[in-house]
Amino acid sequence: MRVGTGYDVHRLSEGRKLILGGVEIPFEKGLLGHSDADVIVHAIMDSLLGAAALGDIGQHFPDTDPAWEGASSIAMLAQVGRILEEHNYMIENIDSTIIAQRPKLMPYLPQMRENVARALKLETDQVSIKATTEERLGFTGSGEGIAAQAVCCLIPLMDLVTDDIVMSGGGCGGCSGCAERI
Ligand code: MG
Repeated sequence: MRVGTGYDVHRLSEGRKLILGGVEIPFEKGLLGHSDADVIVHAIMDSLLGAAALGDIGQHFPDTDPAWEGASSIAMLAQVGRILEEHNYMIENIDSTIIAQRPKLMPYLPQMRENVARALKLETDQVSIKATTEERLGFTGSGEGIAAQAVCCLIPLMDLVTDDIVMSGGGCGGCSGCAERI
């Protein structure tokens, strides 16, 4: 099992859409960024890449690359899911928190969870997205920006194979490889 953490902040600015967890939320400001600036999805992507020690989103989706200008972060998340698959990782669960004074996010959280789960081919109950304020303190409290943090748990597929062999009594009986791996 491998654990990863992610953290991100974007500035709130007029004339931008507010996209969080792939949901467009009615608000007078939106988050500023090269992509759609979906801060919670960015934190989740960094936790996933971090757990696999595969760098961060800045390396995979550089903000100097026009391909990612205005890009959907949910599409980027699906790509992170494919990268993890290629490296033989399974996602066990994700927990995350959006830190924003306003707007009220509770009504949108179920749809955000569904969007993230679908992009990563997970069940919705493997994805938790919560929201909190910082009691009007700091840059989130003043409404200058929104922050997000995430943790996740990955399972290397090789661990599953090994566990299975141990649980089943030490080998499939068909080859000598199993015993050697144990
Ligand atoms: Mg970001």
